[in-house]
Amino acid sequence: MEMGLSRVHFPVTTLGPGQRLGIWFQGCHLQCQGCISTDTWPKAKHLTDIDALLDVIKDWIHLAEGITISGGEPFEQPQALAYLVHQLKRLTPVDILIYTGLPFAKIVNDVNVMAPNVDVIISEPFVINEAQTFTLRGSDNQNMHLLTPLGQARFADYQYQRMDDQHHALDMMFDEKGVIWFAGIPKRDDFLTLQTLLENQGHQLKTTAHKTKQHKRR
Ligand code: SF4
Repeated sequence: MEMGLSRVHFPVTTLGPGQRLGIWFQGCHLQCQGCISTDTWPKAKHLTDIDALLDVIKDWIHLAEGITISGGEPFEQPQALAYLVHQLKRLTPVDILIYTGLPFAKIVNDVNVMAPNVDVIISEPFVINEAQTFTLRGSDNQNMHLLTPLGQARFADYQYQRMDDQHHALDMMFDEKGVIWFAGIPKRDDFLTLQTLLENQGHQLKTTAHKTKQHKRR
C-alpha cells in the first residue's frame, strides 16, 4: 500500500501529549483561508510505500509516546490511512491522533472502518475568523472526538482545555536544505511577528502561508 507523504518527524511535542511521532500526508483540496501549509496542498508527485516507511522509522516508533497524523488531508487517502494506522497499532500500543479538515459526518464511515485503530480525531476545517481558545485547535469550530478508552485517558484533559501561554509552543525543524518548518498550533499573529522581526534585521522570510494576514499550522 502506498501513500502521498509530506514528511515525518520525531519528536513532535506540540500536537498531543508526550514525545510524538508526526506523520504528515501530502495533498489537501480544502484550501482553508489562512493555512500556513500550502506546500501540502498539491497531490504527491511520488508515492511512498508504507511498509518501507515504517521500516525506516521503526526506531522512532518504539520511542514515541503517541502518534499524530496530519497533513495535508489524511482522509483524502482513506485506504492508505486505514492501512497506516492498522500497521502502526501492530507495532506500538501508544495513542494515535488524526487531524482532519473535513467535517466528522463526512469521514465517519472511514473512521468506522479504521476502528479501533484511531484513538482521537480533531475534525473540521480551520476557519480564520473563528476564535482560537482551545488547546490543540487552530479555531474553535474544530472538535475533538475521543474514540477509544485510550483516547479518553490521554486526551480528556485537553478536550475543553483553554489555551494559555504554556500551550503557545511550536516545534521548529530544519531540513537538509536549510528550510525551516514548524509543527504545533501557532497564535494567529505568530508568523507575522516573526516575519516583522526578521525583516527589521535585514532578513527575508518566505512562508508557505496562504496569502492572508494570519496563518495556521496543524
Ligand atoms: S489547514 Fe489543513 S485542512 Fe485546511 S487547507 Fe491547510 S492543510 Fe488543508
